[in-house]
Amino acid sequence: MEKSAKIVIAGAAKKGFTSIDVYETASNLGFVGAGIQLAPNMARVLDRLGVWEDIAREAVECRETSIRQPQTLTADVLLAADGIKSNVRSALLKEINADATIVDTQQAAYRIMLKRSEMEHDPELLALIDNEIVTRWIGEKRHIIAYPVSSKTIYNISTAQPDKNFAAAPSATYTTKGSKKAMMDTFSDFCPKIQRMLDLVPEGEVCEWKLRVHAPLPTWIHGSVALVGDSCHPPLPHLAQGAAQAIEDAAVLAEVLDLCPSSNAEDINKSLRVYEKVRKERAETLVELAAENGRDLHLGQGKAKEERDRKFAALKYEKKEGGAVPDKAK
Ligand SMILES: Cc1cc2nc3c(=O)[nH]c(=O)nc-3n(C[C@H](O)[C@H](O)[C@H](O)COP(=O)(O)OP(=O)(O)OC[C@H]3O[C@@H](n4cnc5c(N)ncnc54)[C@H](O)[C@@H]3O)c2cc1C
Repeated sequence: MEKSAKIVIAGAAKKGFTSIDVYETASNLGFVGAGIQLAPNMARVLDRLGVWEDIAREAVECRETSIRQPQTLTADVLLAADGIKSNVRSALLKEINADATIVDTQQAAYRIMLKRSEMEHDPELLALIDNEIVTRWIGEKRHIIAYPVSSKTIYNISTAQPDKNFAAAPSATYTTKGSKKAMMDTFSDFCPKIQRMLDLVPEGEVCEWKLRVHAPLPTWIHGSVALVGDSCHPPLPHLAQGAAQAIEDAAVLAEVLDLCPSSNAEDINKSLRVYEKVRKERAETLVELAAENGRDLHLGQGKAKEERDRKFAALKYEKKEGGAVPDKAK
């Protein structure tokens, strides 16, 4: 494709193209309630793109234009990286008389970021933020995963529990201010370190996320429009693969558009079809694996839980075959 072809990306997120405009709804790109784990497949792609070292050093500079007025745009290609609530997905599916079937996972998550200064008075909590360890606390039908981010200045905690607060809410709602008491009650049988960390969250700053996914879409592309990331394959967070898969999408798109012979609509559509062919099955398989991991993590009492716990114990205490790492895709 000609390097002057105009590519529009909806949702912030380059390879030789001279005209890529990124449109982002948020007025500034700060923390949105959470850090994420950067899986090795994501790191490999970012490294190939030559950006990994910078990310690893935490040097994030955003130099893109932010446009907030509604406007009409023309472009050769529209890449819709506008997230799980994607408007472009709705419009694209409407064009082809299809629907995105939202799947209620019946799960919700609290996402918490504790500052180092809030933890350093407590030696046990300080040890958590000072270690390079992803820690999981697993209880019946609930779990908590936590790890240090931002050069160990922040401890990122993400929970998963049965959804009670969103059950009656309209499907358009994805986050809500939660009650601190409800959060503390949900994890009241977890260890004292958890109690102390949850208690550090200021009243009124409890943020709960509804975990939704949707059934595989009939297609990710239409004409010169392609869906990317959570707009087309939002997973449950239990495999740490959502952002990783979005970045794999972006890497494949960069390749297919680079190899596209011209900027005419037919060639672009063919290239986007290659993107879909390369990516759809893999991303949708990982969505299913993330759900499977969730089922393993959230078992109630019984034989299956005993077998899972035996594998985790084998990994933790014996470090020999038979152990299972919860985040590893099988
Ligand atoms: C609890 C939890 C834990 C997670 N942990 C991990 C993890 O450890 N590792 C991992 O890889 N993934 C993780 N994820 C998943 C990961 O956060 C998402 O998969 C990833 O952010 C998807 O990226 P995206 O760019 O597709 O969408 P988003 O990150 O949602 O970005 C979409 C962007 O588009 C913008 N936008 C929306 N509409 C428009 C519009 N019309 N015009 C312009 N801009 C628009 C939004 O403002 C937003 O900035 C987790 C998710 C959750 C809920």
